[in-house]
Amino acid sequence: MRDHNFLTEMNARHLWHPMAHPGEMQATPPKVITGASDVRITDMDGHEAIDAIGGLWNVNLGYSCGPIKQAIAEQLDRLPYYSAFKGTTNDAAIALSVKLAEMFGPDGMTRAFFTSGGSDSVDTALKLARQYHRIRGEASRTKFIALRKGYHGTHWGGASVNGNPQFREPYEPLLPGCFHVPSPYAYRNPFDEDDPERLAALCLKALEAEIEMQVPSTVAAFIMEPVQGAGGVIVPHPSFMRGVREICDRHGVLLIADEVITGFGRTGDVSGSRHWGVQPDLMCLAKAITSGYFPMGAVMAGDRLAEVFEAEGYAMIGTGYTYSGHPVGCAAALACLEETERLAVWDNVRAVGPRLKAGLEGLRRHEAVGDVRAEGLMCALEIVSDRAAKTPDPAMAGRIYEATYRAGVMVRWSGTNIVMSPPLILTADDADRIVAALDEGLSAVA
Ligand SMILES: *Cc1c(COP(=O)(O)O)cnc(C)c1O
Repeated sequence: MRDHNFLTEMNARHLWHPMAHPGEMQATPPKVITGASDVRITDMDGHEAIDAIGGLWNVNLGYSCGPIKQAIAEQLDRLPYYSAFKGTTNDAAIALSVKLAEMFGPDGMTRAFFTSGGSDSVDTALKLARQYHRIRGEASRTKFIALRKGYHGTHWGGASVNGNPQFREPYEPLLPGCFHVPSPYAYRNPFDEDDPERLAALCLKALEAEIEMQVPSTVAAFIMEPVQGAGGVIVPHPSFMRGVREICDRHGVLLIADEVITGFGRTGDVSGSRHWGVQPDLMCLAKAITSGYFPMGAVMAGDRLAEVFEAEGYAMIGTGYTYSGHPVGCAAALACLEETERLAVWDNVRAVGPRLKAGLEGLRRHEAVGDVRAEGLMCALEIVSDRAAKTPDPAMAGRIYEATYRAGVMVRWSGTNIVMSPPLILTADDADRIVAALDEGLSAVA
């Protein structure tokens, strides 16, 4: 199966890809990745590249994490599967719930509900938010508010709170009762405000106005990513999420933190919420929970929700997945999180992140770089064809992506953005190599 033309041909004929046009596969075939080790991947032609997107924002510990592989193999030998639906559970799932409660205790999170990925986690969190209000006798609280540019997975609930038309329009009508407010995106926003702090204040006003317009007693929850990832690494001013928390509290609205990317160290803290000094009511986790070694996710809830769900009267949680609490996923996650803590990856993020950011800032000397955004080890270059007019140029971003790959670094091309989310074990040397390859990629298309 390694012949170049054969693989390309079979891929085009039989494999439909997420977020891609099936008809494009022949003319612009995707890269066939066949191997990886540490922070590097190899394609079918033997070309090697630093994986500066870390799989898909998830391979935080790189591709050679022995303890995760071993935990998976051992769990497969001992108990490959057992369900966590009412009546049974398994020891791996229990152990992981204890570990997560310990890790996210400082965020006020004490209960874990397991899922098979981020989209599951988002839809579960939305459901639990509605159910919380219903149990408390506020069944009118059914609406959700979210940020434009937000990405919350692709299930119906997540697509409905998603803030990108590409993932919405083809599948409409979506869930009724979902509303969107401006994102604190300093480079482009409806207020033409480029000062992050003043912009945060304007976006907070817009959020509160929307809650009031909807009537607070009908709003269940506000969902946000602490740093918007797929939308182009949009980093809010530090005051933003704290302001959101205050507004939610003022109006009895739950705050759901979608930490599918920001959880487990990406921002330089264990969670993005903690990074901004906020405790959410519900937290969505997935991606780096197993560093990509097994599909897995979780929703975490704090005491405020727990008290309501666990009170007498037994409100059944009427949602879940066959693979909720999958023992192999839980064993993989437990090993991953122990390794994440042992390596204290957040310390490395705080050391290497600023160096990578400084390097990327230096790339502003290329006319095509309209904006540079980074927090911890999530970064983006926004590519424009005209700096003054900020004209998006997705085609040029695509050419930069290709040239950067040829120079030995895999980044992600997403619309007019080049985004990065490298493994958190990235060395300073490799951070420099990423910048050098982008420099080469940018020069090649100039
Ligand atoms: C990736 C992502 C999701 C969806 O996760 P899947 O595992 O792809 O279903 C949800 N929210 C955020 C913030 C994400 O980045």
